[in-house]
Amino acid sequence: MEKVDIKNFTLAQLEGHITGQGKERFRAKQIFKWLYQQNATSFAQMTNLSKEFRAELERTAWISNLEAEAVEASADGTKKYLFRLADGNAVESVLIPDEDRNTLCISSQVGCAMGCEFCLTGTFKLTRNLTTAEIVNQVCAVKREEPVRNIVFMGMGEPLANLENVIGALRILTDPDGFQFSTRKVTVSTSGLVPEMAALGAAVTVNLAVSLNATTDEVRDRIMPVNRRYPLKELIAACKAFPLPSRRWITVEYVLIRGVNDSLDDAKRLVRLISTFPSKVNLIPFNEHEGCSLATPTQESIDRFHKYLLDKHVTVITRSSRGSDISAACGQLKGRLDKAAEAR
Ligand code: SAH
Ligand code: SF4
Repeated sequence: MEKVDIKNFTLAQLEGHITGQGKERFRAKQIFKWLYQQNATSFAQMTNLSKEFRAELERTAWISNLEAEAVEASADGTKKYLFRLADGNAVESVLIPDEDRNTLCISSQVGCAMGCEFCLTGTFKLTRNLTTAEIVNQVCAVKREEPVRNIVFMGMGEPLANLENVIGALRILTDPDGFQFSTRKVTVSTSGLVPEMAALGAAVTVNLAVSLNATTDEVRDRIMPVNRRYPLKELIAACKAFPLPSRRWITVEYVLIRGVNDSLDDAKRLVRLISTFPSKVNLIPFNEHEGCSLATPTQESIDRFHKYLLDKHVTVITRSSRGSDISAACGQLKGRLDKAAEAR
């Protein structure tokens, strides 16, 4: 019998697994606490389980883990972790410190199939989905070294294209017997997979961020091919329908690209588009990267865009690009060590 990776189980699945082996249901919670609150790496550590049960777990299951192969630190305190996966692929996670509110940005796929023109991850195409275990193990690994307050699925990949494993990870992250993150502290970001947005909202309570990035179908079709499948009208309807707990909002991400979507007309259209649902806008000046001819806007047009939204009483922040000196900023992740490593 092949051993199961126990970190692929949600609590409910683990309960099913061990009761199937004739064990008491509450043992699953004990195991979960060891895994996610004590960050245990072996069954031997789980001293409130009988020796026999631990030996049986040893025979039928294993505990996967990730260790950072490289950690790069930015001048602004941002840290980028490179994790090598068992099959040789690699993904990156980024820890963004902010006083006592560390945010960890995690990956959901190796590469990405969505092909957004402005995003480096997208140019690497999709290699594969991460397992639930590989997603939560990014959190386990970083938490071993640093406190983590917020989790954002804004690293490599389109989380909603890996919905089942992402939902599994979300359940583990927010489980009171798991990582215990409040649902307010976990955000999933999507390029706009409309049916999956509804499925996510039906399955779990979580914050949603939507990468809007354009205000006309013409421009969005060009820079985000997903728009040809789910045009703006459908995307906005999906935002409106997304089940938000009271006093919450959808984060609208808007990458400002010079001469593409940074005009005052865009700002006007943006205000109209988001008027039907509670939102906060994150303006992200485009981070330039090799092999992409798009450019970051002038400071003047960033300020103009920002001010227009403010004047219309939209809650807006312009995100400073953290960690760009180590290629850890939005859209700069590629899951490779460096050019030399790539060549090898
Ligand atoms: N696939 C998901 C989550 C990962 S991308 C999504 O697209 O939402 C996280 C954010 O980075 C998205 O809002 C995306 O629009 C933004 N982004 C991608 N490339 C960028 C770049 N070069 N500069 C600035 N932001 C970028
Ligand atoms: Fe994929 Fe998001 Fe990058 Fe688009 S912006 S290619 S969806 S990771």
